[in-house]
Amino acid sequence: MRRSVDILQRELNSQASDILELTAGLVESRKSLQRSFTALQVSDRRWLGLYDNTAVGIALADRDGRILSANPALQRMLGYDRADIVGVSLIEITELSERAAAERNVHGLFDGELPGYKVHKRYEKKDGGYLWANVCASRIPAMAQDGPMLAVIVEDITLRMEAERSLAATRAELTRVARFTAMGELVASIAHEINQPLSAVITNSQAALRWLSHDEPNLVEVAAALQRVNRDANLAGAVISRIRGFLRAGAIRREPVDLARMLSELLQMLQVVLTEAGVQVGVDLPTPQPDLIADPVQLQQVILNLVINAVDAMREQSGRARRLDIAVTPDPAGGLCFAVRDSGPGIAEDSEARLFEAFFSTKPDGLGMGLAISRSIVENHGGRLWLDRSAGPGACFKFTIPDN
Ligand code: ADP
Repeated sequence: MRRSVDILQRELNSQASDILELTAGLVESRKSLQRSFTALQVSDRRWLGLYDNTAVGIALADRDGRILSANPALQRMLGYDRADIVGVSLIEITELSERAAAERNVHGLFDGELPGYKVHKRYEKKDGGYLWANVCASRIPAMAQDGPMLAVIVEDITLRMEAERSLAATRAELTRVARFTAMGELVASIAHEINQPLSAVITNSQAALRWLSHDEPNLVEVAAALQRVNRDANLAGAVISRIRGFLRAGAIRREPVDLARMLSELLQMLQVVLTEAGVQVGVDLPTPQPDLIADPVQLQQVILNLVINAVDAMREQSGRARRLDIAVTPDPAGGLCFAVRDSGPGIAEDSEARLFEAFFSTKPDGLGMGLAISRSIVENHGGRLWLDRSAGPGACFKFTIPDN
């Protein structure tokens, strides 16, 4: 009996110590769990604080660009509430001309073809207005029960773009006014120089008529008056050809032009205008980049005029996508041939003959000097500028810049 009691007592003691150890272990792991839980809560709160209070917009989206969640900044930027922003597709609210590219980017990211991307574009807000945005997107790999997601960071740059646009408008207006002023001065000086010989022509021709109306016309006086008429008319003609020569032989600089850089600077400068008009631009340059010697500023002015005309023409067009293509190819005669093609309404046959005339314009506020000036710049370089009728629909202007 006693032995049995001893055995049982020992057994009981050892179990009690096991239970004691077990309890101590349990208490310790609960404490450590509590510690990591608290740490997790702190980290969660910090992230949430950042997500809720940062000035940049943050969204998580699925493969179709649909928003799964968006922070308050993005809700404010796009004008949605917390609940109704969920399900809005970032692709569908991307401006039409950029939509296909947005879809390609999102899918490229999900399919692992792109590591991430940054773009500069416009989103349509809930109220129909626009948000100019710097967008940075990357892929969050699949985790636990969630599939992969798109993380999108949006910076609102509407104010900056509006400031740039109004600056560009002011600059354009200033150029227009300056052109008008320059034209006005030119016209005034032409008028002044021609007025004198013309008044003399009138006076002398009236004198000749008077001499002729006498009963016995004084032919010697008539001949003398007609000679003065002839001299003064020639004088007026000379003034005109001097001005023409002056306009034509505008001094040009000749230096190597980095074609790709010049075009990209130009398109950068026009980005607001192009995006606003919803125009997609394609540039096709020969590789390797060809040598080109020209006046870079004047050449840029020609392309600028052609691009602005194309954008103006496409503004009125709806239905078809608005596309502008700039292509440069080697010219069979040597040098380069530039083509600027648009998808606008093209050029009516009755205006074709007058396109390059100074002051011909079909625009309400047009000056009608763009094509005239462009043609004289190209001709100063020894090239030619023309409308290529074979390449429709839309208008296609081509010009050549020969080798020196
Ligand atoms: P402006 O742009 O001031 O009117 P331009 O000399 O540049 O002067 O152009 C003259 C006219 O040629 C324009 O008013 C327009 O009618 C026509 N034009 C020029 N480019 C195009 C184009 N790409 N598509 C349609 N019409 C054009």
